Amino acid sequence: MNIVVLTGAGISAESGLATFRDLGGIWSQVNLEEVATPEAFAADPERVQSFYNARRAQLHEVEPNAAHHALVRLEREWRKGSFLLVTQNVDDLHDRAGSQALLHMHGELRRVRCLACGTDDRWEGPVTSESACPSCRTQGRLRPHVVWFGETPLHMEQIEAALEGCDLFIAIGTSAQVWPAAGFVRMLPRRAWGIEINPERSAMASSFAEGRRGPATRELPLLVEELLA
Ligand code: NAD
Repeated sequence: MNIVVLTGAGISAESGLATFRDLGGIWSQVNLEEVATPEAFAADPERVQSFYNARRAQLHEVEPNAAHHALVRLEREWRKGSFLLVTQNVDDLHDRAGSQALLHMHGELRRVRCLACGTDDRWEGPVTSESACPSCRTQGRLRPHVVWFGETPLHMEQIEAALEGCDLFIAIGTSAQVWPAAGFVRMLPRRAWGIEINPERSAMASSFAEGRRGPATRELPLLVEELLA
């Protein structure tokens, strides 16, 4: 039984990172058009960098939670087929928990990409107009390695191949409003079983065979226990 897991901002909520679309979420505090589009970066790079600098700095204050750890356990102990974790999250909580078969389809806060040479590199601190690319040394051409609205998500070929061979699809903490991730549940083979873990019904809730309504830190360890039993 091949498993594909999709996570969204909700899995990191209990670690203390704000979700996007919930009340009090990131998009109720900042205007999406001002920070998360290529046009915004072209118009005001400093504003965009400072938004992501602040979010990168916030990563020092949070730790992976029981839901991140449960996915690591599932990956390590699953013997009945393949396992792939696809995350929409740009935080590094899955990485720090120890997930290995992990694809960041919307990029990573702790990486930057150079507009001069195209290389992406690990980056811990703030990015300024003086920052030089670790690979080609060009100054002032770094951008956050995150996928903005209007850009193509990363690793799509690998993700689509995994969905084609998937028997169990588990979506956790995603409102299913950002595509293409929202449509993954509709790309599954007929035989596949879909489980949504979310305290609320997402926009795609009716496409899942099963919904488990509760916080990820409660529902996911329970589900992993069931699967490994
Ligand atoms: P979202 O904020 O839209 O949805 C969060 C979901 O988590 C909600 O459905 C909520 O009910 C659920 N939730 C809240 N607490 C939970 C908990 N404890 N346990 C389980 N679920 C919980 O986030 P999303 O679905 O991830 O969609 C937005 C995605 O799009 C983001 O992940 C992000 O990567 C991407 N995005 C990126 C940018 C950017 O900065 N470049 C901009 C917008 C969106």
